[in-house]
Amino acid sequence: MSKRGILAIISGFSGAGKGTIVGELVKKYGYAISISATTRSPREGEEEGVNYFFKSREAFEEMIDREEFIEYAQYVGNYYGTPKSYVMQQLDAGRDVLLEIEMQGALKVKEKFPEVTLIFITPPNVSELRRRLEGRGTETQEVIDQRIARAKEECAYMQKYDYIVVNDQLEACVEEMHALLQSLHCARNNQRDFIDDIIAGFRDI
Ligand code: 5GP
Repeated sequence: MSKRGILAIISGFSGAGKGTIVGELVKKYGYAISISATTRSPREGEEEGVNYFFKSREAFEEMIDREEFIEYAQYVGNYYGTPKSYVMQQLDAGRDVLLEIEMQGALKVKEKFPEVTLIFITPPNVSELRRRLEGRGTETQEVIDQRIARAKEECAYMQKYDYIVVNDQLEACVEEMHALLQSLHCARNNQRDFIDDIIAGFRDI
């Protein structure tokens, strides 16, 4: 049987650059990412089944009832959720899986799967965060203000994350993330089966 992949959650303030970093990790190093379902409308250039599965509120609520999500949360007026089957399939096939989700959802996953690693990506400071959100040009000022207000609340969650990674220079950050993710293969929490095998190997000695 192939070794199980690692599961890592990547969160951070809206505008921290998570999406770009995760995209580079997938492209360069072949990580699997979970595609979430959401009730928010597609942004310019976003595609169904690539960025998200875009759902009506009714369809999303039916998925909740059928227990199809590992977790789901509401974020600035919309639902976001992680479908269960794909993630489990990829981990069992030995692939490392990244979930890019917000903090309430991250903590729910951690409750269900204590071996998950929580990684928080942040810009170097608050003025840079604002500059990136405004520079993106895809959101109205009202939504930008809501996202900044939400980021202010989210600061407290940084305390609950295993790792904090500063995204100052994109390329350096991608390499740092890859090194961190690879090191997780050696973490005790991800080696439980191996430890059991070693102990079993000594049983008759
Ligand atoms: P955006 O609308 O900018 O694509 O995403 C808004 C927030 O929702 C981001 O913080 C993103 O990480 C988070 N998000 C995306 N998918 C999921 C999901 O499946 N579950 C949860 N809990 N959050 C998600």
